[in-house]
Amino acid sequence: MPFSSNSFDLILACELLEHLPNSVFNCVSRGIVRVAKKYIIITVPYQEQLQWNYARCPRCRCVFNGAYHVRSFEENDIRLLFRGLGCVSLRGIVPILNPDRTNGLELFTRHHLALEYLFYSASIRCPLCLSPFENRLEGI
Ligand SMILES: [Zn+2]
Repeated sequence: MPFSSNSFDLILACELLEHLPNSVFNCVSRGIVRVAKKYIIITVPYQEQLQWNYARCPRCRCVFNGAYHVRSFEENDIRLLFRGLGCVSLRGIVPILNPDRTNGLELFTRHHLALEYLFYSASIRCPLCLSPFENRLEGI
């Protein structure tokens, strides 16, 4: 980030970190800490099970999370990421809808037997070949 250290009283990073690949995640995290003078507010999906929203491109067969999330977070992940900074609190701000996401057999059946992958919206594109998807649920 092209800013001096301690440039901003507050850094707000909403729904960002879950999208960052490993190649930039640590750099961005360190950058947030470096440019923040007083406060950092982070929002991320909580305990997201990425595989439940996997999409599969019908053209190139690339499998990816339909929201382009590449990592999920637990409370401890955030505490460790910003350890030593005096984290005041971690809070859930949206009620967690809790379908049975622990049913691995259902997930296996969806992906490997029914060959179904969930798509979030009609506007997503395959991150590899950039093909658009038109159906919410695509079988292969
Ligand atoms: Zn593709």
